[in-house]
Amino acid sequence: MAEPIPLPRDRAVLVIGAGTMGSGIAEVAAAAGHLVYLSDTGAAAIDRGLGLVRSSLERRVQRGKLTAGERDAVLARLRPGLPDGSWDAIGLAIEAICEDLEAKVSVFAALADRLPPDAILATNTSSLSVTALAGRLGRPERVVGMHFFNPAPTLPLVEVVSGHATSPQVAAVTAATARAWGKTPVACRSTPGFIVNRVARPFYGEALRLLQEQAAGPATLDAVMRECGGFRMGPCELMDLIGHDVNFAVTRSVYEAFFQDARYKPSLVQKDLVDAGWLGRKSGRGFFDYAEEAAPVRAEEFAGGPPPGAVCIEGDLGPAQALAGLIAACPGLAVERRPGDGLLRVDGLALALSDGRTATERAGILGEPVVLFDLALDYADCSRVALAASQHAGEAGVARAAGLFAALGKRVSVLADVPGMAVMRTVSMLVNEAAEALYQGVASEEDVDAAMCMGVNYPLGPLAWGRRIGLPLVLQALRHLSSTYAEDRYRACVWLQRAVQAEGSA
Ligand code: NAD
Repeated sequence: MAEPIPLPRDRAVLVIGAGTMGSGIAEVAAAAGHLVYLSDTGAAAIDRGLGLVRSSLERRVQRGKLTAGERDAVLARLRPGLPDGSWDAIGLAIEAICEDLEAKVSVFAALADRLPPDAILATNTSSLSVTALAGRLGRPERVVGMHFFNPAPTLPLVEVVSGHATSPQVAAVTAATARAWGKTPVACRSTPGFIVNRVARPFYGEALRLLQEQAAGPATLDAVMRECGGFRMGPCELMDLIGHDVNFAVTRSVYEAFFQDARYKPSLVQKDLVDAGWLGRKSGRGFFDYAEEAAPVRAEEFAGGPPPGAVCIEGDLGPAQALAGLIAACPGLAVERRPGDGLLRVDGLALALSDGRTATERAGILGEPVVLFDLALDYADCSRVALAASQHAGEAGVARAAGLFAALGKRVSVLADVPGMAVMRTVSMLVNEAAEALYQGVASEEDVDAAMCMGVNYPLGPLAWGRRIGLPLVLQALRHLSSTYAEDRYRACVWLQRAVQAEGSA
């Protein structure tokens, strides 16, 4: 198939809504060489928007990313308000007004007679249905989602969202235009949350469940997700940054849009924060206190535990196999290897990777106390490991396990004995959600993974992560979670079940 052609440079772009996103998008389009009209409800709002573009360009000049001449050329391509007579030049109209379907319909309906018939009507909505917007307009095939992330001038991802009637050619031109503007487009169908806001739900949802189940405090949970899971930010600090009102509203909207599917169920923990006005950074308090005089809250660490005398590695540790190398290289440890089911024995005590069951359940099956360790992005490099002990492992058992990880140079956090711990449970649910989006034809595997790495900075795309640790383990963890909680929330996606069956029969 021929490479789709981006919007030609000599076609102008109309951006409606000169707020945070509109001003950023106008900057991107003008920097790419288009004449850009920036419109809003009145002159003051347009001036404010142009001011936002000026300061953003100024920051780029100060950082050496742009010359003063380039800045002036970008500004010279920006026009306040709507075109006065030259409507035929407009090839793309992007709306970035308030998140309200009726308002968006009115904006596009008012432009319908003036825009040339081949103009693309793009919406920057983050949660509304592109299909519903297009369905209310005269030319639904020319309506597409062009979902930039904030700040638009710096973040590379653009979700190109096709509604039910969007012409494939319109979607292809929109994607090619985003690429020509220096962005990385991913294609998706208009389903609730598109890719990023849907697939990311478990990152917040599982953290909120873990808090509700008193697995750990917010600082400890964040530290485990960052330093063991490899996420750039912990879920609690991230929700504080996004704002609990905004994050809760997105979760509610995805939950309602999926007809109250249990997978997206909002959390009472977050509702409480919203009700209390503890919205996060912007209100000075969320999970954490942002007052200047507030003492920083530190993650809990398990202090103590002497280095073990002897470690036995029983069988293949699967995704945790790198631990075997670390143990073998650790001075002073007597290491023995035996065939077995993928366990470590530290002075006799069984240690195992979490598989979605509690440590106590595993202990019942093994017939002896057990300490579980959580999934790590990279066992060789991670600076923290989380542990959970079965009922009869006791303080002494935790100390023995902690002693091993301390000897390997890791900090240790101890979680309550909850099913699936923190990283294993969250990653399994992220893989499941990504797999579901794939199964339902929302986007390709490559685009789902790219969107999650670029849109929310995940260290690995969920599907690549699932393949790395092994899809059978992910499926097993989900099945264990599902049977323990007896909730539809943890049901395993058909795509995942089939992929595991296919691996088994290969
Ligand atoms: P904003 O409040 O900063 O800006 C909205 C602008 O639209 C305001 O200047 C307002 O005066 C103007 N406006 C409102 N109604 C209008 C109308 N009828 N005609 C013309 N202008 C009108 O909002 P924002 O954060 O820039 O968000 C804009 C859109 O982008 C929303 O749909 C939002 O969901 C989406 N979005 C936001 C983000 C984000 O992080 N802020 C990220 C991606 C997408």
